[in-house]
Amino acid sequence: MTLSALLEKYDVPTPRYTSYPTVPQWHASPSTAEWLASLTRAAHRPDAALALYVHLPFCESLCSFCGCNTVITRDHGRERPYVDRVLAELRTYLTHAPAIAGQPFEQLHLGGGTPTFLSAGELTRLVEGIYQLLPRRTSGFEGSVEVDPRVTGTAHLETLRQLGFTRISLGVQDIDPDVQRLVNRVQPLALTERLCADARRLGYVSVNFDLIYGLPGQSPESAATLAREVLRIRPDRLAVYSFARVPWIKPQQRRFRDEQIPTGAAKRALYEAIRTPLLASGYVEIGLDHFALPADALARAAAGGRLHRNFMGYTEVRTTSLLGLGVSAISETPDCYHQNEKVIGEWERRIDAGGIPTLRGHRLSDDDRKRRALITSLMTRFEARIDDPAITLHEPALRELEADGIVAIHDGWLTVPESGRAFLRNVAAVLDAYLPAQDLSQPAYSKSV
Ligand code: SF4
Repeated sequence: MTLSALLEKYDVPTPRYTSYPTVPQWHASPSTAEWLASLTRAAHRPDAALALYVHLPFCESLCSFCGCNTVITRDHGRERPYVDRVLAELRTYLTHAPAIAGQPFEQLHLGGGTPTFLSAGELTRLVEGIYQLLPRRTSGFEGSVEVDPRVTGTAHLETLRQLGFTRISLGVQDIDPDVQRLVNRVQPLALTERLCADARRLGYVSVNFDLIYGLPGQSPESAATLAREVLRIRPDRLAVYSFARVPWIKPQQRRFRDEQIPTGAAKRALYEAIRTPLLASGYVEIGLDHFALPADALARAAAGGRLHRNFMGYTEVRTTSLLGLGVSAISETPDCYHQNEKVIGEWERRIDAGGIPTLRGHRLSDDDRKRRALITSLMTRFEARIDDPAITLHEPALRELEADGIVAIHDGWLTVPESGRAFLRNVAAVLDAYLPAQDLSQPAYSKSV
């Protein structure tokens, strides 16, 4: 079967597997008490290592492709009370699960929304407030932040650098003016370049660009131009995400007409128009959709088999627990997922009442944990051991993938050769015990390609 026929065949709604079980399959929700007990158990493990994530939801305008949990506002008076509440949330955790302060935490990631919607002063209050409440590692600590170049100034970068941040991720998505207009994100390339130069001058050790393929208006030519300009700037890392079209969740995507959106082989051609020049210029392809220069820590971790993946994406730092603070933030321990209330007014009300703002989560069974490890292995190393008789697979789907040359099976191992990497999500789906119960005619996931 030709690649183009395979792309048409396998471009079906499929989870992205940033967690297993995937969020729509979280049915074994923990109570808040169970969640706190899980967090405490994790903190007592001999290999305990904690990462923090803070969700900062504010954006001044809505990019129409966006799938994040955002609050669109130009009212910067909302910064201060939000920071106060995030710190209050952390204090509540320390009251009810004091064991998390037992070891210095390893990682702090600020995501959004737009973290740099906050002024440099409020970012300082937030980060110093966290450092005062929780000890952090003195050596090897990793601070990282997502920034929107349209609202980020040199003062933001200087402040975060002084606070110990060394990694920065710039939202770029596309540089074509027509595409930018169609997705309501006009961002001159000069802004991105200036910020990247500032970050390097200030000593950030890793600069990442986020790009998206599959947006309305993109063409192989515009994708090739994007790759050429990116290569001129040469960030240390790139995430090249597939546009997740989920209009039933994100109504702003309803403005896109079907004929504007590349799918199947046409969509994959956009990815290849970016991927091919990146590889030719020395970048290493990592996991599902990431690239890094060989000297970057992510590429070194991938080469050494130490790559890890969690809700924040691919990372070289292996932590056992992720504590998410802020509206809609997701947390993870070895045996539990937990998500905060997603509606900001409700999150605020519950923080003000002195509680943990649990919305939902999932207590992982033994089977869940085994499958999660196998799917992580596939997503990071393109292989998984499948000879555990207790782990049933979707055999017909697996045999079809094998017949189509997307996977190879030998000596109890499932491997995905380079030619099968476009279908990694489809391969992971054969390990998903929850998938047969789902009716894929009801939209739940974006398409796999
Ligand atoms: S700035 Fe980022 S988080 Fe905000 S709407 Fe745009 S893509 Fe979404």
